[in-house]
Amino acid sequence: MSLVMVIEDEEALGLMLKYNLEKEGYEVIVEPRGAKALGEVERHAPSVIILDWMLPEISGVEICKLIRSKPDIKNIPIIMLTAKGEEEDKIKGLSAGADDYVTKPFSVPELMARVKTQMRRAPEIITTKELVFEDIRMDLIEKKVYRGGQFIHLGPTEFRLLKMLMEQPKKVFARDFLLKNVWGMNIYVESRTVDVHIRRLRKSLNEYGPDYIRTVRATGYSIDNQPQNNEEE
Ligand code: CA
Repeated sequence: MSLVMVIEDEEALGLMLKYNLEKEGYEVIVEPRGAKALGEVERHAPSVIILDWMLPEISGVEICKLIRSKPDIKNIPIIMLTAKGEEEDKIKGLSAGADDYVTKPFSVPELMARVKTQMRRAPEIITTKELVFEDIRMDLIEKKVYRGGQFIHLGPTEFRLLKMLMEQPKKVFARDFLLKNVWGMNIYVESRTVDVHIRRLRKSLNEYGPDYIRTVRATGYSIDNQPQNNEEE
């Protein structure tokens, strides 16, 4: 069954959408907490997302951008829902990566028609169940990491760090980028914190194989299988 995720904090509207979408034969999850939305999208990999612009803590536009920055979920169609009718906001929403845009108050049949349109694009989506780099395997469903078949225990931050690196091998990630995307945007942490967690990650991973985490001086980190000279900083 096709899953629609509704990210909307207004309870009445969430329920109304759930009722109508279920009537259309979809499975529906309503997520009222903006801050939890990204994790829930990653967990459930819905076919279509209906995303409200106005959410507490984090805006719909920010969530949209975050979804578009994650390789395993970035292709999920997003319909933005908003009370704002201004052209400028529409442009902002679409440039943040929304596929469609519906202004409140909207007609239910029209929204359902738009969901159906986006649903047609959905089967193309292949959601990633695991990431593999050389002998390192990350199970994204079970949230477990193995190296050469050995289970590797990682803390949640190390897990997210490794995931980011493994999603784009050989790409060099700046410390600031890692801070923003691994720790979240509202948490203040020093960029040296990244080094501390990279050290922990290395220690756990290198127990069962060579060091694939490359330190790029004054820049950041990548995962790479080329020979390298890493100096602990
Ligand atoms: Ca709202």
